[in-house]
Amino acid sequence: MSAIVAIVGRPNVGKSTFFNRLIQRREAIVDAVSGVTRDRHYGKSDWNGKEFSIIDTGGYVQGSDDVFEQEIDKQVELAIDEADAIIFMVDVESGITGMDEDVANLLRRVKKPVFLAVNKVDNAKRAEDAVEFYALGLGEYFTLSSVNGSGTGDLLDALVEVLPEKEKEEADLPRFAVVGRPNAGKSSFINALIGEDRYIVTNIAGTTRDSIDTRYNRFGFEFNLVDTAGIRRKSKVKEDLEFYSVMRSVRAIEHCDVCLVMFDATRGFDGQVENIFWLAQRNNKGIVILVNKWDLIEEKETNTMKQYTERIKKAMEPFVDVPILFISALTKQRIYKAIETAVEVYKNRSKKIKTRKLNDVMLPIIERTPPPAYKDKYVKIKYITQLPTNYPQFAFFCNLPQYVREPYKRFLENKLRENFDFNGVPVTIYMRKK
Ligand code: GDP
Ligand code: GDP
Repeated sequence: MSAIVAIVGRPNVGKSTFFNRLIQRREAIVDAVSGVTRDRHYGKSDWNGKEFSIIDTGGYVQGSDDVFEQEIDKQVELAIDEADAIIFMVDVESGITGMDEDVANLLRRVKKPVFLAVNKVDNAKRAEDAVEFYALGLGEYFTLSSVNGSGTGDLLDALVEVLPEKEKEEADLPRFAVVGRPNAGKSSFINALIGEDRYIVTNIAGTTRDSIDTRYNRFGFEFNLVDTAGIRRKSKVKEDLEFYSVMRSVRAIEHCDVCLVMFDATRGFDGQVENIFWLAQRNNKGIVILVNKWDLIEEKETNTMKQYTERIKKAMEPFVDVPILFISALTKQRIYKAIETAVEVYKNRSKKIKTRKLNDVMLPIIERTPPPAYKDKYVKIKYITQLPTNYPQFAFFCNLPQYVREPYKRFLENKLRENFDFNGVPVTIYMRKK
C-alpha cells in the first residue's frame, strides 16, 4: 500500500491543475496498459522513488462557492482523517480570502504534516507577493506554478520526506474489504455473516483508525473482514457525500488483498460503483462483485441474472474475468458463497506458477500465434517468468519488446487466464528485452 496525500483548498486555486501534473506521466503509462477509464480526482504518483496516492478533494465538491463553503469543513475534516499528508493550496493572484482562513483554522490543529502551497507563482514578482501567506499561521510555505511546473520539485521533495515508507503488504492474515456506496448493504452483509452485534465485538477487540476489522474463520481459512461502513456513525460527515465514500474506499482498498465490491441491485452498477471497481483494479487487488438486495428483484427468471451480468461485464471491459454474485444480506442468500469466492480469488492472487510450467504451456501457444510483425520486424518471445511480487505479474522476454502491441498483450493475458485461473485478479504483463 502507499501513502495517501490529499490536496485541499477553495475552488480555482489550481488544485486540479497541480493534480494533473502529478499523475500525468504515470496515467499515460497506466492507460496504455489497461485502456481503462480513469477517475479524474484520484491517481498514483511517485517522486524520488516513493509512490503515493493523491486525491484532489476539490473534485468531489461541485457547485457554486456558497455550496462549497458549506462543504469545505467536511472536505478538510475527511482529508485530515484519511490522508497521511495534506497539501493546502492557495492562490497568490487573489491573496488570502476568508475561505482560506477557514481552512487554515482547521489545519492549524492537525498533527499530520500540512504543506502550504502558494500556487500561480509564475514569476519572481509573484514570489515576493507570497509573503502575505505567513499570516495564515501555518509557518513555511512553498511557492509553485502548477501551470509551468516551477517550484513543484521542492514541494514534492519535502512531501515524500515525511511520507511513511512503503509497507510490505501485511504478511499476517489476508484482508477482505467490503466496499461500495453508502446503503449498498455492507454493514448488513457483515452482520449477517457474523450473526451478532458487531459493535460489541469491536469494542472489545478495539478498532483500527480507519475501519473495523473482524477476524473470521470459514472454510478452514482465517482472514480479516474489513468494514468501511461502520465508521461513518462516528463522523459528522453527511452520508451521501460522494467524496466521503470514495475517500473511505481508497483507504480500504489500499489496505486489503481482496475487495468485495458491493452495490444495490435496485440501483445498478452505476458510475460511482464503477469508480470503486477501477480503484481496486488499478491497485492490483483481488475483486469479487456482489450484487446485493437480490431479494428485491422481482423478475427472477434465469435471464434476469444473465442480462444483469452482461451489463456489468460491459462496464468492466476489458477486465471481465471477475466473479459476480447475486446475494441478499437480508435473506442470507449466497453470503457464504461470497466469502468462499473471496477466498478463491485470494488464492488466485497469491498463486505462483513455476517457470517450467509457464513456458511449457505458453510457448507452444505463442508459437502457433506469434506476435504480428511490426514495421517489418519479427518479435521472438523466448521465455516467460512470473515476477516475485505479491500479485501476478509476468515478464515475457523477447528480442524487440517495444514492438509488441496492446492487443497481443491482451491475447497473452487471456491465455494465461484460460490456463491458470486468475479469476478476479488483475494480471500485469511486461515485455522485457533479452
Ligand atoms: P481548482 O478549482 O482548485 O481545481 O483549480 P483549477 O486547477 O481548475 O485551476 C483554476 C484556474 O487557475 C485555471 O484557469 C488554471 O488554468 C489556473 N491555474 C492553475 N494553476 C496555475 C498557475 O500555476 N499559474 C497560473 N497563472 N494559473 C494557474
Ligand atoms: P451500508 O451503508 O452499505 O452499510 O448499508 P446497510 O447495511 O446499512 O444497509 C442499507 C439499507 O439496506 C438498510 O435499510 C438495510 O436493511 C437494507 N438492506 C441491506 N441489505 C439488504 C438486502 O439484501 N435486501 C434488502 N431488501 N434490504 C437490504
